[in-house]
Amino acid sequence: MNILVTEHIHKSFGDFKALDDVSITIPENTIFGLLGPNGAGKTTLIRIITQILMADQGKVMFHGRPLELEDVHRIGYLPEERGLYKKMKVGEQLLYLAQLKGMSKGEATKKIKAWMEKFDIISWWGKAVEDLSKGMAQKVQFIATVLHEPSLIILDEPFSGFDPVNANLIRDEILEMKKKGITIIFSTHRMESVEELCDHIALINKSKKILEGPKKDIKETYKSNTFNVLHYGKV
Ligand code: ADP
Repeated sequence: MNILVTEHIHKSFGDFKALDDVSITIPENTIFGLLGPNGAGKTTLIRIITQILMADQGKVMFHGRPLELEDVHRIGYLPEERGLYKKMKVGEQLLYLAQLKGMSKGEATKKIKAWMEKFDIISWWGKAVEDLSKGMAQKVQFIATVLHEPSLIILDEPFSGFDPVNANLIRDEILEMKKKGITIIFSTHRMESVEELCDHIALINKSKKILEGPKKDIKETYKSNTFNVLHYGKV
């Protein structure tokens, strides 16, 4: 069963075509790597999936039917640029975001504390968001993304801003989530991360999807293509 399918998505910003007929199929319970160099169109596609942007043409299907705003609210989305409110404290910020996702205060408090303990950051509860480093804010936002236990999680460059120790922490969480049956869309320009984590891949370059499939089936093709795209800017 496919959890999410984009069908012939087109998107332009003025004269610039950011997505040109992009169709991808994301099977359930995969770690799906959206791989491509900066500027390829990955974030634009994610913004269309999460209804931050509207496609000029094309459809997004979720469990075989058109994706609706209610579905979007249930997706966990970690944007590349962090969206925390600087003036709030970490604890109240997470509580606020959890309640926006429909969680009760009691349930949210319990889950937030459990996650903060797991990440060993419970002492940050009363810390102002504006005092967090980029890596710290990233950890808090990761918790906000997964707190409501979504069945689909979209991570846009989840390792940016992280030192290796914390990158490993997030990496382990991604693998753990896959074991629980969660589907993860993982957008990155780093081939090593895809190599390590993903079982399905779509390679995007210059607004177009170049290839897509289970990593084991397209392994050599995707490696040579990715190498050419990432190192030489060729399709
Ligand atoms: P990626 O995530 O692969 O790095 P993006 O989807 O962020 O790529 O961007 C693809 C292209 O679309 C880039 O050239 C970017 O400058 C352009 N772009 C993205 N958003 C906008 C926008 N709101 N207005 C104009 N151009 C945009």
